[in-house]
Amino acid sequence: MPEYEFTFAKNITETNEENLLTAVRDSATTVYRTFAITLDGENKAYVNSIEEAQEVVDEIKAEHGLDLELNIGIQEVYTENSNDIEAVEVAIAKQNMENTIDTIIKMKENSVNGILLSTPTNGTISSRFGSRWGRAHTGLDISASTGTPIYACSSGTVTNASYFGGYGLLIKIDHGSGVETYYGHCSRVYVTVGEEVQTGDLIGLVGSTGNSTGPHLHLEIRVNGVPKNPQNYLYK
Ligand SMILES: [Zn+2]
Repeated sequence: MPEYEFTFAKNITETNEENLLTAVRDSATTVYRTFAITLDGENKAYVNSIEEAQEVVDEIKAEHGLDLELNIGIQEVYTENSNDIEAVEVAIAKQNMENTIDTIIKMKENSVNGILLSTPTNGTISSRFGSRWGRAHTGLDISASTGTPIYACSSGTVTNASYFGGYGLLIKIDHGSGVETYYGHCSRVYVTVGEEVQTGDLIGLVGSTGNSTGPHLHLEIRVNGVPKNPQNYLYK
């Protein structure tokens, strides 16, 4: 509610209630208040009252609170632009929160040691990780035609960009936290050792260099040097 007081500005000016109200409106700032439901300190959905916010939080916690360590809270928000914080119905707020949580769950599933991974190329799985012909296959083979783009699974530093034994033309990226990705049998390499790459950067092309019987990407994900099954995170 606005607070104002009456004073005499000019004793010769006639005015009425309508004029006063207009003057007050013109000089006042309208501030809108809503309640934000927050996840890890970020506002994710807005509702009109603290009771509604609490209802959403309680329902989300009842569904996810135990298995996910969710840092969920309520924040009173003020703004002069109501578009910034448009309050929605409880059901919609709850749906928004669910969508956000689903994204978080997916991200955690695609993460190794906190490094979020995305698929490096499109193709068909032609050989899985694990035992193969009596010896361990340390990666996942993704069959694709020669020249298919290969993208960085995550940001990091290139640590190899040349021929490396049976891997043929091999790109290695160090993502930090002990996580590395290998991209073997490339036909072309577009990065150099020491280069910083971002998730999704084009780093090379699929080929059949090295110990390979047909064009494919040999993808390896290593944690502290130990190969992990890429399908724990990607191409599930
Ligand atoms: Zn392979």
